[in-house]
Amino acid sequence: MSREVLIVGTGLGGLSAGLRLATKGYQVSFVEKAKQPGGRLNQIKENGFTFDTGPSFFSMPYEFEEFCSDCGIDIPFEFVELDPLYTVFIREGNNKFNIYKDIELLAQQFETIEPNFKQKFTAYLKHCEAVYNDTVDAAIKQNFDSIPDYLYKLSRVNPAHLPLLFRNFWSQTKLYFDSKEVRQIVSLIAFFLGRTPFDTSAIYTLLSHIEFKYTGYYNVKGGMYTIAKSLVSELEKRNVTFHYNTEIVDFESKNGQLLSLVDQQGKRWKADIFVINSDAAFFRGKVFKRKAYNEKSLRKKHWTMGYLTIYLGIKGKLSQIEHHNYFLGSNYEDYATSIMRDPGVLEKPYYYVNAISKSNPECAPEGCEALFIVCPVPNLMYKTDWSDKELIVDSIIDDLSKRIHYDLKPAIIYRRSYSPIDWQNQFNLFMGAGLGLSHHMLQIGALRPKNFDEHFKNVFYVGSSTTPGAGLPMVVISSKLVVERILKYFG
Ligand SMILES: Cc1cc2nc3c(=O)[nH]c(=O)nc-3n(C[C@H](O)[C@H](O)[C@H](O)COP(=O)(O)OP(=O)(O)OC[C@H]3O[C@@H](n4cnc5c(N)ncnc54)[C@H](O)[C@@H]3O)c2cc1C
Repeated sequence: MSREVLIVGTGLGGLSAGLRLATKGYQVSFVEKAKQPGGRLNQIKENGFTFDTGPSFFSMPYEFEEFCSDCGIDIPFEFVELDPLYTVFIREGNNKFNIYKDIELLAQQFETIEPNFKQKFTAYLKHCEAVYNDTVDAAIKQNFDSIPDYLYKLSRVNPAHLPLLFRNFWSQTKLYFDSKEVRQIVSLIAFFLGRTPFDTSAIYTLLSHIEFKYTGYYNVKGGMYTIAKSLVSELEKRNVTFHYNTEIVDFESKNGQLLSLVDQQGKRWKADIFVINSDAAFFRGKVFKRKAYNEKSLRKKHWTMGYLTIYLGIKGKLSQIEHHNYFLGSNYEDYATSIMRDPGVLEKPYYYVNAISKSNPECAPEGCEALFIVCPVPNLMYKTDWSDKELIVDSIIDDLSKRIHYDLKPAIIYRRSYSPIDWQNQFNLFMGAGLGLSHHMLQIGALRPKNFDEHFKNVFYVGSSTTPGAGLPMVVISSKLVVERILKYFG
């Protein structure tokens, strides 16, 4: 008889681990706290508008291709490559830059502000490529059984990259570029890791290789939520069952084995193997009540920033913006060094605007635009009171209106927003930190919460707060790593 697996959480990590396990013949079922699947990769569909709630694009599509091939299916959604990658509006000088992967087109954007841009960028990317090639297999796509095992695998990485450990992302861009605009744009990717270029290691410049040279970025036709929906439908074809509005709050164990998980109604969920897609650190503390992960210990870890996300249905079409847009102010260094902790910086917010309806007209009623705004904000450790949420949302809408010379307020026919409190409560994200645990050097590899449990031999973890880390492709890799472990232990 096939073994029963219970997966806690239907984020991308849970869904992809579930499909891999179901393909290997395990009998899989899911419990999920929310009313619909997807976790942070979710969707709001109201009044004729469709919004992706979290992720709006992704890199490394080959991870999805490999995942689908491992599961013996054709990719059940359609990739759309972004070209330009995105557009950046900088307040100072009212500058607008279209960011292309094509280096000639990119060089045209910067020829006046960064002399010899092409040579400098080529040299920068060559270095980023070397870092990527030397680290991706050794440090990212690996299970580590112990810290000595991790250190041994790291010791095989080219030592020429060691100085990067002592430099931040921003300092690395300074070695190559003179203009602040180019430094700002090249270092924006550090925000995708949930921190800033000033507290993100220069090792992560490997992401510039992925962004500008290797894969670039992709959307999914119909919106990013198509990924979650299509995986659920593949799982249902394999008789996998889903139980929503079911939050795991307690457990029962015997002799080093987890016997069952207990939901908020007191119902017991038994299985042979348990895979936890809830945050790997938070769950160990909150449900398994481990001292090393109690609130005091969790607070000492490095968490990512929070996000204020805004969903707007606009009557009318906006020709002023593209599908993916960044709006930066004039005080990048001050802003980035303060944003993690100082709510005061929200007076001059920086934000990302996504107009999903530009490439997917079905996501808004005819003649309308669906806008999704993401504003980095301090997480709940540094801003606990969000009673001013709507005022901050108003100020962002006013700022955006000024920047695009169009008064959005009278055109808004749908409006909703999530503060870090909403992100925390909906998906059990500790302190509402949008990307969970950060990729601080002491929180990656074997130093990140492990994908196997310290006490229960039949408990495993998948998703962004275990190895290798946050972001959709990383979470898909985490499903491969955890299933490798399960197959090793249980066959
Ligand atoms: C605003 C925002 C924008 C982002 N943009 C991008 C982007 O553009 N590109 C990109 O690659 N990544 C992006 N990310 C990151 C990406 O969303 C995450 O890394 C990824 O979706 C995490 O997937 P996961 O499976 O690890 O966790 P989650 O999606 O958080 O899934 C965990 C699931 O477990 C459930 N759960 C938790 N606790 C329990 C419990 N006790 N009982 C039952 N169920 C429980 C939760 O409800 C949730 O459904 C973004 C994130 C945010 C917040």
